[in-house]
Amino acid sequence: MPSNVPLPVDLVHAMPDPALVVDAQGMVTLANEQAVEVLESDPVGRHLSASLRVPAVLDAVNEAAMGEGGANVDYDVRVPVPRSFRAHVSCLGHGKGVLITLRDLTREQQIERMRADFVANASHELRTPLAALSGFLETIQGAAKNDPKAQEKFLGLMKSQAERMRRLIDDLLSLSRIEMNEHVKPSGEVDLTQVAAHVRDVLSGMARDFGCEITVDSDGPFAVPGTRDELVQVIQNLTENALKYGSSGKLVEIIVRKNGEWAEVSVRDHGPGIAEQHIPRLTERFYRVNVQDSRSRGGTGLGLAIVKHIVNRHRGRLVITSEIGRGSTFTMRLPLAE
Ligand code: ADP
Repeated sequence: MPSNVPLPVDLVHAMPDPALVVDAQGMVTLANEQAVEVLESDPVGRHLSASLRVPAVLDAVNEAAMGEGGANVDYDVRVPVPRSFRAHVSCLGHGKGVLITLRDLTREQQIERMRADFVANASHELRTPLAALSGFLETIQGAAKNDPKAQEKFLGLMKSQAERMRRLIDDLLSLSRIEMNEHVKPSGEVDLTQVAAHVRDVLSGMARDFGCEITVDSDGPFAVPGTRDELVQVIQNLTENALKYGSSGKLVEIIVRKNGEWAEVSVRDHGPGIAEQHIPRLTERFYRVNVQDSRSRGGTGLGLAIVKHIVNRHRGRLVITSEIGRGSTFTMRLPLAE
């Protein structure tokens, strides 16, 4: 072998994916760091079956050891956490052993599952008002054909279903626009106190309808790097939720504070609160504590998903705390402008 050709040992260690070499008897002769990590112990010097108990992979290795080309084998592991891998098995040449590389497919499969779930959820959410619209139309054309009063009533119901579809489509479009820009750092500068006051004014009518008051408490202008419209949307979504779900507390407080290098905006209500097990899932798309309750209040289940993506884009964090019977606080924490 010419001296400038890397030895298999260097190649195996330089590979980005977990990789190992076994000899014709199935004993592991080489393993890179990534392989040791994935297999959770150093397999070198032991039979492959001691660290990789996947019959299909072991069969493929036996075949490759006899010089029968390469194969891909997909397999799942259950412990310590469920993960999926693709093992690529290839013969290194007669008597030189077999190279096994592993690719972690867990994330890819998770994304694919999320995408499929999202399409199914979005279609279902749109189909529900559409089915209601078709039903009302049939009634107007049939049973209510000669009844102007009933027609009026059904037209009103149709209008509210059409509005629900519009809200859903608006939210879906917002979400996809924000997701597309998520990696782009915002370039403007925004005063959060001014945004909080703006949201209070915009929602004052809605607050009145709910018999609630919105207050803003801030001890200064707090400028953060950001896109104003998006930060308005965050505080508005949180305040609307506080009114929709927490209006029994009569008061919604928007509190703006400096905390070290961060600016924090908290939207606090004194409503029924949210049970602990729901809190980690609230920012998932279409996740609702109570679907009927959310729908009856004009909810789409996308408001907090939008909030989370905007906060991520601004390199910030969203913290949710809640206590049953005492209310909830949603806090957006953003890095202060220099
Ligand atoms: P929705 O359109 O249903 O309001 P969101 O994503 O904005 O969707 O909120 C998800 C769910 O979180 C809501 O359906 C509701 O169950 C719960 N939630 C959000 N904010 C509050 C709050 N302030 N108090 C109680 N529950 C809340």
